[in-house]
Amino acid sequence: MIKKVLIANRGEIALRIHRACHEMDIKTVAVHSTADAEAKHVKLADEAVCIGPPPATDSYLNIPNIISAAEISGADAIHPGYGFLSENEKFATIVEEHEVIWIGPKPEHIRVMGDKVEAKKTAGKLGLPLVPGSDGAVREIGEAKKIGDEIGYPLIVKAASGGGGRGMKVVPEAGKLESLMKQAGSEAKSAFGDDTVYLEKFLGNPRHIEFQIFGDGKGNAIHLGERDCSLQRRHQKVLEEAPGPTITDEERTRMGDICARAMADMGYRGAGTIEFLYEDGGFYFIEMNTRLQVEHPVTEMITGLDLVREQILVAAGQPLSVTQDEVTFTGHAIECRINAEHPETFAPSPGKVVNYHAAGGMHVRVDSGLYSGYSIPPYYDSMVAKLIVYGTSRNKCIRRLRRALEEMVIDGVDTTLPLHRALLEDPDVLEGNYTIKWLEEWLERNAAASDTQ
Ligand code: ADP
Repeated sequence: MIKKVLIANRGEIALRIHRACHEMDIKTVAVHSTADAEAKHVKLADEAVCIGPPPATDSYLNIPNIISAAEISGADAIHPGYGFLSENEKFATIVEEHEVIWIGPKPEHIRVMGDKVEAKKTAGKLGLPLVPGSDGAVREIGEAKKIGDEIGYPLIVKAASGGGGRGMKVVPEAGKLESLMKQAGSEAKSAFGDDTVYLEKFLGNPRHIEFQIFGDGKGNAIHLGERDCSLQRRHQKVLEEAPGPTITDEERTRMGDICARAMADMGYRGAGTIEFLYEDGGFYFIEMNTRLQVEHPVTEMITGLDLVREQILVAAGQPLSVTQDEVTFTGHAIECRINAEHPETFAPSPGKVVNYHAAGGMHVRVDSGLYSGYSIPPYYDSMVAKLIVYGTSRNKCIRRLRRALEEMVIDGVDTTLPLHRALLEDPDVLEGNYTIKWLEEWLERNAAASDTQ
């Protein structure tokens, strides 16, 4: 069994991994940049190693320094968390070459799912339903026009190496296809060094539904149901819930089984998330994330499983702690991502937290690296806390979440707490009546309303 895990990350996810490790009697090694010397994950870990200056490229993305930290500390495994090096095939390969256990999927699977064209092809072969579109990359306008005529407009041009919503263009009609395809290609070239693009039918008003899956790397895989992450701003998730308010038990079982079977066929190892757009009862694969997700706690709340523990078990070559038949879904959970940002302009707001008070009480979980007196550094992601609340029903969950949001205090910096409080008063959110477009439109309406006041 694994004895010492190096956590190649920071913030709340580093703490989350540390907690799972200590509950399994595993020692932890924190790594940190000079900007994070006072961070909570550094204080709680059994050992800490400084891996470089503040910019992530010099520290949290610095592969030689992280490998050296593992060697110096005698860590026998590395958990990458999410973001940073978590979906870096090269890093996973180097870790394994150093005979350190990689708590993540096989490097080959990280590679396949990291290239969107290849991911879509693989997903199709494995029987996952796809958004209608080109069969792989499209290089010539003549070919693109033919596909456009077949699938119809509007359509969307997407970059094969895309991420974070970049390199995407919605094409309203055939006349704009050539110019928008060129634009998407050159945007993709400058952002990712690769101008390969492909075409998809543009879905007008879908929801974002994703399935949590787990494989043991030996041909067995299970699903842990879905999450609805439709409340997004600029393709960034803001609030997530499980189960999806519109998903039926039949849909969960049918799609979950398709996902689990696909992962079993692949021989997938560890945690993964298969993302779909969902419209008019149809599911359409968009991508797969080969890592733990920010929003994994809502799944933990309704299944009672510790997903980091499961990751560690399969990385150590042990079986998952449950079979599909033993997985149960009980009640409802919602997560609010709390960012150190202005709640209306979304301008980042790093700086000193003069007073911090986390919400508490029954079924309330706060994952955060904050404490009173902590200074949020300006170099990294602005998400500083996750508030996750459980209730036996969606209504009870919402009531408890409102109460918990009242209790949370983060003084000294701007946060998105007021945004979440307002969202939890909106009739559409209360009814689960929203799509991936809803939040942007709601923000625009509110901005227009405050301008006229
Ligand atoms: P990225 O990796 O850049 O985040 P995704 O493929 O996951 O790209 O898509 C990001 C978002 O873009 C989706 O959540 C959805 O809002 C939108 N999107 C992507 N493909 C389509 C499509 N075919 N139709 C409508 N919207 C889409």
